[in-house]
Amino acid sequence: MEYYILNYTKSAIGESGESCKSNYTFENACEVCGTGAKLVGKLRTRGLAKVKKDFFSTLDDDFIISKKMYEELKDKLQLGNLKTVVDSKSNDLPFYHLNTDLHFPAGIKKDGLVIYEQCLACKRNGYFNKTIVGNSKMNIPTQVFPIGLYYPIIENKFLNSSDFFFTWESMGLSNRIAQGNNVIRYARPLLIISERFKTALVSYKIKGLDFEPIIIASDATHLV
Ligand SMILES: [Zn+2]
Repeated sequence: MEYYILNYTKSAIGESGESCKSNYTFENACEVCGTGAKLVGKLRTRGLAKVKKDFFSTLDDDFIISKKMYEELKDKLQLGNLKTVVDSKSNDLPFYHLNTDLHFPAGIKKDGLVIYEQCLACKRNGYFNKTIVGNSKMNIPTQVFPIGLYYPIIENKFLNSSDFFFTWESMGLSNRIAQGNNVIRYARPLLIISERFKTALVSYKIKGLDFEPIIIASDATHLV
């Protein structure tokens, strides 16, 4: 089975998570920066009341699917125990939070990512897309390099347990404690989906989905 990093390239919609007072536990998170904080209960959101999309990302990099899509796919794919998202008054919304505890190991080679102000305690956050900034006056668009992640052998038992996963690497910076201009923020991982999930998403003809294949070693000779 092939696996892909799924990027949502359209504008993000609504807020979610820390900024909406969602609850997190730090059991497996970095003590210094909070990367790896795990959501407890439902994802609290703002600004989703009028959204009609089947798949999108919030401004806080949480992935959301519509209730309709969830109901259509839940028996065809292994999506785990997804929870609905709620508004600021804890009312259920017709959306599910694409969230899992299943993380891939750290990639052994990472193309298209740069590291900036990474937490030295966990070295898990601080990943950013590699870009060449364009020039709007000269009509040169900003170029974002494709992400290429290479993995060691991963057990089939793990891969077969779900149709989506998160990366170990987390995008952007984290702040466990608000200080000055730095608000509380836990860097989010990238989303990895199976070929099955990709096929299903493609059938919905959703705009702004970009699938970048990842490479998983099938035997030890591929490790170097
Ligand atoms: Zn850290």
